Amino acid sequence: MRETIRRPYALPGPRSAAVLAELRQYVSAAVPVYLPAVIARAAGAVLTDLDGNTFIDLVGGVGCLNVGHAHPRVVSAISEQAARFTHTDFAVAPYGGYVSLAQRLCALAPGTGPKKAIFLNSGSEAVESAVKIARATTGRPAIIAFEGAFHGRTYMSMTLTSKIDPYKRNFGPFVPEVYRAPYADPYRSPEPDATRWAMRALENLLVTHVQPDRVAAVIVEPILGEGGFVVPPPDFLGQLRAFTRRFGMLLIADEVQTGIGRTGRMFAVEHAGVEPDLLVTAKSLAAGLPLSAVIGSAGLMDAMPESSLGGTYVGNPVACAAALAVLDVIEDEGLLARASLLGEQMMARFRRLADRAALVGDVRGLGAMVAIELVRDRRTKTPAPDATAEVIHRAMARGVLLLKAGVYNNVIRILAPLVITDEQLADALDVLDEAVLEVSGETTGPEDQGIMGSGQ
Ligand code: PMP
Repeated sequence: MRETIRRPYALPGPRSAAVLAELRQYVSAAVPVYLPAVIARAAGAVLTDLDGNTFIDLVGGVGCLNVGHAHPRVVSAISEQAARFTHTDFAVAPYGGYVSLAQRLCALAPGTGPKKAIFLNSGSEAVESAVKIARATTGRPAIIAFEGAFHGRTYMSMTLTSKIDPYKRNFGPFVPEVYRAPYADPYRSPEPDATRWAMRALENLLVTHVQPDRVAAVIVEPILGEGGFVVPPPDFLGQLRAFTRRFGMLLIADEVQTGIGRTGRMFAVEHAGVEPDLLVTAKSLAAGLPLSAVIGSAGLMDAMPESSLGGTYVGNPVACAAALAVLDVIEDEGLLARASLLGEQMMARFRRLADRAALVGDVRGLGAMVAIELVRDRRTKTPAPDATAEVIHRAMARGVLLLKAGVYNNVIRILAPLVITDEQLADALDVLDEAVLEVSGETTGPEDQGIMGSGQ
């Protein structure tokens, strides 16, 4: 057992088991539960369950905890605001936190022109709002999205999402006027220049599927998130920006997963020097409290009629207070530089792992948004989803929380809190190495340690 992982019981421990039994009785089967343990508290990059087991968290609430769990400054911002008031409806009775946060985000988003922001609750809602802005301001109906994209679970955002299971099966009809182009994927591109190939396909879409002057916007994740942490070549976003300008389309950057410091910049589009018309962010913005934002040029954001965007809970004062603390922490603790450093360390470790395990077909990432893609055969690149689930299962049994991604469920993605210590990261990556080597048959490890089926 490692220094940073405490494990008195096999999983689940007795206290967790009792809650899990009730969970199965009362919680919808639509909610899968990956970790067979019930969390009592969390701090930094460590989760502790009801039985005192600890887990190093490489998932961070699916990318929501860039500043770590229960950061003291975030906690005190939340409790101070909660004690003052928890809700007024900003449009009815405004408060300063919303305004300060809008100001901060407009200054942080790329581009020098005047910008404005609006807050919503979830990534999906922010995507919906960005699409509404694009359609209303251009007067055009169509949206182009990419293969492998994930933009959410509401009807428009689900339509934009590019994965049948588990997100779209039996949920149609979908929203009309959504068109799909391939993403520039260096690992799976049929041609060596992934950008060139993807841009040709995009141009062709305008010949075969939709006329350019009917397209309101192209929506793109600067790095595919749920789609498998696909990092496009550095010129892809720039070419996309030029393409959209040429046809008077807007460019919407979905930075729900890539934003708020994950890639070593506040927003991932900064790496490409690209200024989108609308930037959508959420997840780590308020350290997991429900808050999302759309930031765009003042002209676009002000063209929207009164009350055409919004909702009861949007821009909640407690969430805004948390977000302001998150931005302070990122700045004061140098978390952008930390993200880059963590990324370098992880990439180096994963490359060494790939040298030892043929199962690792690809190692990729930008900043601390890093992943390995597991394949049955490096030449054919046949995805290995079962091996991926098994690696995650074994790592979890040894106290490391991991999450899959990818259209073929064969990618292990790392979204560790950026405050993870070097020691915690080293221990967690040792566990991951062991699990990958065992599953790839390179070594044999200890027998299953009593974890129950986790529904992976
Ligand atoms: N866009 C991206 C890129 C995402 O990763 C997600 C969530 N995984 C969403 C949108 C949807 O966000 P939410 O789940 O908050 O609706």
